[in-house]
Amino acid sequence: MIAVNNEIISLDKKENGATIDFISHAHTDHMSALASSKNIISSNQTMELIMARIQAKKLNAHIDFSELGIELLNSGHILGASQLFYYDGQKNLSVLYSGDFQMQRPFIGRRIEIKNADILIIDSTYPDPRIKFEEKDMTKKKIQDWVLEKIETGNVFFGSYSLGRAQDIIRILNEIGIVPAVNKQTCAMNRVYKSFGEDLSYVSVYEEDSNYNEIMDGNFVGIVELGRLSSLKTELAKAYKKRAYTAVASGLVKTIEFNSDAVFELSNHADFEQSIKYIEMVAPKKIFTYGANKGIFAKNLAKLGYNASPFESSEFAKFK
Ligand SMILES: [Zn+2]
Repeated sequence: MIAVNNEIISLDKKENGATIDFISHAHTDHMSALASSKNIISSNQTMELIMARIQAKKLNAHIDFSELGIELLNSGHILGASQLFYYDGQKNLSVLYSGDFQMQRPFIGRRIEIKNADILIIDSTYPDPRIKFEEKDMTKKKIQDWVLEKIETGNVFFGSYSLGRAQDIIRILNEIGIVPAVNKQTCAMNRVYKSFGEDLSYVSVYEEDSNYNEIMDGNFVGIVELGRLSSLKTELAKAYKKRAYTAVASGLVKTIEFNSDAVFELSNHADFEQSIKYIEMVAPKKIFTYGANKGIFAKNLAKLGYNASPFESSEFAKFK
């Protein structure tokens, strides 16, 4: 938690004592404060995605934060994902919290905006220098070539989360003239993307005016729940009486083995090297690492000479 003026703000998690909760983006692992929160700071896109996820028409907890002197900066991760920036007049210190962020240009939406800050609280998703992602355009080309080859002799299924990766895959496929079929949850997320002007072509039984049947008559690409991909493979082959090729496109393929025909390393996170690039651009006096891997990330940053330690609310409050 961080103190801003007279408020105590939690960062992407539920914390006792917080008066306001900041939700940087609509991935569920950042939304734990949602159920009990009375005051939420987030971008409008994030709010819309959350409402689509929980099927709510309105969330009264979403507050206007302009009076607090807080600024949200695009983090390049998924639609609406934001960093939080503020200036603490009493301490004469500026503070930036990254949330999940990406340094490469995203396939959808704008690139990350970066500001100088005295204190940086940085996400620790990839704390290990040995993990390095290739250029996303290269991965995109690999995916497109693989799909074009496999679709000649069967259907292709990507296992994916419904928010972020699914829309990336749709965009990658649309570029080569393929309109994929998606499930209900992805459909709900897509509608929000479209309402903010992002162009996505897909079909679904849950989308009234889509030419679903026409697409499903030929060989097609489907996007299904990541957790069900390997168990679905046999079922899908049987159901459509043709081969079912499966693929996962995720940063997780670097650390987890997936039971699919193909894996592509595609991440909307910064790897270690890109995190260093981000740190250099923010140019902070002090770095607090944040999230599950904060210990190891702080250690690895300290090895390189950075003034970094794992985030603790009390340590953060003491910093002058
Ligand atoms: Zn995320």
